[in-house]
Amino acid sequence: MGEDILRKIRDYFRAEKEGGITESLFCSEGKEGKKEKLLSLKNRAAQCQKCGLAKTRKNVVFGAGSTDARLMFIGEAPGHDEDIQGRPFVGRAGMLLTKIIEAMGLKREDVYICNILKCRPSRNRNPLPEEISACIGHLYEQIELIRPEVICGLGKFASQTLLETETPITRLRGNWHEFRGVRFMPTFHPAYLLRNPGDKKLVWQDMKKVMELL
Ligand code: URA
Repeated sequence: MGEDILRKIRDYFRAEKEGGITESLFCSEGKEGKKEKLLSLKNRAAQCQKCGLAKTRKNVVFGAGSTDARLMFIGEAPGHDEDIQGRPFVGRAGMLLTKIIEAMGLKREDVYICNILKCRPSRNRNPLPEEISACIGHLYEQIELIRPEVICGLGKFASQTLLETETPITRLRGNWHEFRGVRFMPTFHPAYLLRNPGDKKLVWQDMKKVMELL
């Protein structure tokens, strides 16, 4: 009986392989499948022409980090440095974010970092509603593929957009919310912390709550 089942499983895997199936039925989102899907999503985003930012961007800033991240940070949109380098949070605010991540006992490569918008709005203006609706699908797919345990919303814009609320960040932060079945912790944006270093202690309180869950 046991032999029979084993033979059937072996036959199934052989048939999958011969049929060119790379993702097994027994492992609906295998590691390789996930990486490949993210890469193909990244390639699609790199060609995106859905809004006016396609004309002014230098690079599409898709996201960076581990595809198996348990923690995902989501900011607003790439700035000047990110646009040049094609990577999220690499400027001064990004350096502070790196410090926060390291204070949590993690490395940037352990988490996943991305933004609501994948292209830079000129002169760092706020994203327009039509830019958000053109772009947000990329983020939804990133979240579905990575399936982090916790999402940290960086700042008012990302947190209010994803939670579909106008509640001020001062009231949202530090409290658990839910986004598409994932625990969501809003906190202050690192760029805000550069201007208001006295509020770093509040962000640290929020990150301690995140660490308790991870
Ligand atoms: N601010 C953001 O919101 N995202 C970045 O990638 C950089 C700065």
